[in-house]
Amino acid sequence: MTTHQAGEVLIIGANFAGLAAAGSFSSAHKVTVVDASPYLEFLPNIHELISGFKSPELLRTPKKRLIDRMGHSFLEEKVIELDPGGCRAITESGKTLNFDVCIVAIGGVNDTYGIPGAAEHGLPLKSVADGREIYNRLSALVQDKPECSVVIVGGGLEGVESLGEVLRRYRSNKGLRVHLVEKETVLLIEEPKALDREIRKRLRKLPVTFHTGQRVVEVEKDKLTLASGEVLPADLTIWTGGAAPNPLLAQAGLASGPNRWAMVNKSLQSEVHENIFVAGDAAELPRPLAKQAYYALDMGRCAAANARRRLRGKTLQPLCALPRPSLIALGDLDTYLVFGRLAVAGKGLAGLKEVIFQYNMSKQDPPLAWPSLFELQERLWSGFSNLILPRIFSPFSIPELGVVRLLSL
Ligand SMILES: Cc1cc2nc3c(=O)[nH]c(=O)nc-3n(C[C@H](O)[C@H](O)[C@H](O)COP(=O)(O)OP(=O)(O)OC[C@H]3O[C@@H](n4cnc5c(N)ncnc54)[C@H](O)[C@@H]3O)c2cc1C
Repeated sequence: MTTHQAGEVLIIGANFAGLAAAGSFSSAHKVTVVDASPYLEFLPNIHELISGFKSPELLRTPKKRLIDRMGHSFLEEKVIELDPGGCRAITESGKTLNFDVCIVAIGGVNDTYGIPGAAEHGLPLKSVADGREIYNRLSALVQDKPECSVVIVGGGLEGVESLGEVLRRYRSNKGLRVHLVEKETVLLIEEPKALDREIRKRLRKLPVTFHTGQRVVEVEKDKLTLASGEVLPADLTIWTGGAAPNPLLAQAGLASGPNRWAMVNKSLQSEVHENIFVAGDAAELPRPLAKQAYYALDMGRCAAANARRRLRGKTLQPLCALPRPSLIALGDLDTYLVFGRLAVAGKGLAGLKEVIFQYNMSKQDPPLAWPSLFELQERLWSGFSNLILPRIFSPFSIPELGVVRLLSL
């Protein structure tokens, strides 16, 4: 049992939202950060692991180093129980963590919607380890079975970006067939419709079949059945079907049921427990925001500022989250920049995605000491050798980098 000091802050979950929250407290505060995973993982680029375009080390950095630098304590543990009324959380090893204010930033979990076989046979893409596993399984499959079929379930951002990476590495393999299944009638349902048309046009001559407007009803080791009765051969199934709320939200009474996100007010304070703030993907605002990393960062900072205000007895402030453009990569075939109804496409936009990755990783882990400096150098070299070096040896491809096509207004 730990002793309790007044003004203690507990942050559960330390990836985008939790780390942004932790970084917003000075070392004068007593802040404990607990997370089940030792690494900050840059999830927006994990699809690049599938092709080997990026390696796992480039996409993660030790949380302990970042949190030590902030002057807070880090505990690598899973929280299995949160008791807002009792102001305490219990970890898997049985530790009790007391708090006056708690920030919950635990993201979501992979959702297989109870579809038989999906959890056993579908490979999720929710972490660096997942991305590496897909890379390993795909490499072995293509080597052992030249005539093979890969099925991607989900035609949202994760599914489309995974498709791009499979094609980046294997599109010249004559025996590979890729199927993408999506329950909506278009790909990327939340984006302008022009993207769906553009992606289908771009992949017309490649070995890809889209099964849109189709639901998966069963996944087996080597096949997948759709609601229409069609059976697709599946030597490998990549499952990007979506995210479900973390069960801890319902256990703590922050959500109204097991499949609900935590309801918060405009200041990210729980609708149920005043001493709890929820940030990032786990939070459901009165007007929900897209579950994106840049909003998670804004929410983490806002939750921390309001936690401090609550400790001082001051009035809470509402979250200010401005919409940002999103970048969607289709491997090395194309990249799309979307802002509201505006969508543009161009291969050169891949450079912008890389710059955003490099900038955010360096911001999270400033190169102030040796391990961080070394990791920065590794990331920069990887960006240079993957994106710039091939162009130097293929100068005729340089002009196409400057071409940006307007897809919709
Ligand atoms: C494949 C993929 C591609 C994406 N692409 C983009 C993109 O291009 N742009 C964009 O903006 N966003 C993108 N996103 C979404 C973005 O990654 C999420 O919005 C963001 O990660 C949410 O941050 P978070 O801090 O709320 O949750 P997470 O990043 O999920 O972090 C949650 C943390 O909580 C910890 N945790 C969970 N449960 C417990 C527990 N019980 N005890 C202790 N710790 C716990 C986890 O270990 C984890 O570290 C993508 C996501 C995926 C999966």
